[in-house]
Amino acid sequence: MTKKLYYKDAYMTKFTGKVLSCEEGKKGIAVVLDQTAFYPEGGGQPADMGILGNAKVSYVFIKDEVIYHVVDKALEVGKEVEGVIDFERRFDFMQQHSGEHILSGLINAKYGYNNVGFHLSIDYTTCDFDGELTKEQIQEIEILANESIYQNLAIDCTIYNDQEIKEKPYRSKLDLVGDVRLVTVPNYDTCACCGTHVKMTGEIGMIKCTNVERHRGGTRVTVLCGKRALQEAQQKQTIMAEVSQMLSAKPEVITSNLAKLQQELAEMKQRVASLTNELFEYKVEEYLKTEEPAIYVYEKDLLGDALRRLCLMLVEKTDKKVLVLTGEEGNLKYALGAKSMDVRPLNKCLTSEFNGKGGGKSELCQGSLVGNEAEIRSFYLLHHGA
Ligand SMILES: [Zn+2]
Repeated sequence: MTKKLYYKDAYMTKFTGKVLSCEEGKKGIAVVLDQTAFYPEGGGQPADMGILGNAKVSYVFIKDEVIYHVVDKALEVGKEVEGVIDFERRFDFMQQHSGEHILSGLINAKYGYNNVGFHLSIDYTTCDFDGELTKEQIQEIEILANESIYQNLAIDCTIYNDQEIKEKPYRSKLDLVGDVRLVTVPNYDTCACCGTHVKMTGEIGMIKCTNVERHRGGTRVTVLCGKRALQEAQQKQTIMAEVSQMLSAKPEVITSNLAKLQQELAEMKQRVASLTNELFEYKVEEYLKTEEPAIYVYEKDLLGDALRRLCLMLVEKTDKKVLVLTGEEGNLKYALGAKSMDVRPLNKCLTSEFNGKGGGKSELCQGSLVGNEAEIRSFYLLHHGA
C-alpha cells in the first residue's frame, strides 16, 4: 500500500520516496515507492506527470492500493529518489475538479439530478447529469457557482471511518463501504471523492459552462475553470473582433447583420439561377448548330444542378447524344444524356477510360472523370456510338 502524500497536501510539488520495486510491465517501466505525491489516474481526474530521480514520469496508476509510476528509465531498488510534480498541470486539474463539484452540488440541490459521468481532459471537462437541463437553467447555475468563488470558501477534504460516515449526507456515484473521503465546499456541496482540490474556492478563478447538450436522456455540460475559462474568453473575443471587422459592425449587431446577408445571398442565388436559365436558352441554340455526330459541351464553372439542367435542355431538342462537362482538368464532372438511346454503354467506356465514377439511368448518367478536357472530347466523339 503506497502512502498518498497528495491527500495530506495537494500542493506538495516535491517529495522523496524509497524505490520498492521497478519492473517492466504492459505500460512500460513501472516504479513503486513507499510514498508519493503523484496522483494516479482515477475518479475522472487524469494522472500527474513529472520527474522521479532522473526519469520522466508519463503516467501514474493505482492497483490494489499500490501506486505505479510509469517512467522512461529504470530506477535502482532500495534507493531514495526525489519526485517533482508538474504542478501547472496538476493545479489546472484541481481548479477544474473543484469547479465541477460546486456545479454538480448546485444542480443536485436545485433539480435533484445526479452527476453520472465526469470526464476531465487536458482541454475541457464534461459532466453528465441524469435529467434534462436547459441552457437558461445552466446559466442560472453558473451565476450561483461563481458566487461561491467570490466568497473564497475553504474546501475541506477529510477521511471518515465507516461509523462516522453514517451520519454524513453526501453525494456519491457508488455505494461506499469502509473509509470514505469527503470533499466539502461549505453551503454548496459534499461529495465522496478521491481527487485533488484547491484549498480555497477563490483559486478556481471562474466557472464557465461552454456547452449544454442532450445526452442519454439527460444533459452533458462542458465546463472550463480557472485559466482555461480566461483563455476561452480571450479566444472568443479575438474571433468576435475579427468577425466584427469583417462585417464592419459592432459585436451587438453582428447577428442581425448576418441574417441580412444570408437573406441577400438567398435572393442572389435565385437571381443567378434565373439568369443562368435565360443564358442557357441562347447557348443551347448555339450548341445544337454543331456538325458533329454527337453534342459535346464544356463549361468551366456550372454551379449547383446547372450541369444536369443544361444537359436535359439539350437532350430535349436533339436526337443526338449529349455530353456536358464542367470543372477543372483532373476533376471534371459530367452529365451524359440522350432522348431515345441508352447512354449507359458509352458511360461505361468514358468512366473506364478516364478513371471516372458515376452512373445513372438509360437516358441520363452523371459522375466525375479524371483527365484532360480535349482528350475526353476526342474520345467521346470517336466512341459516341458505343
Ligand atoms: Zn471529485
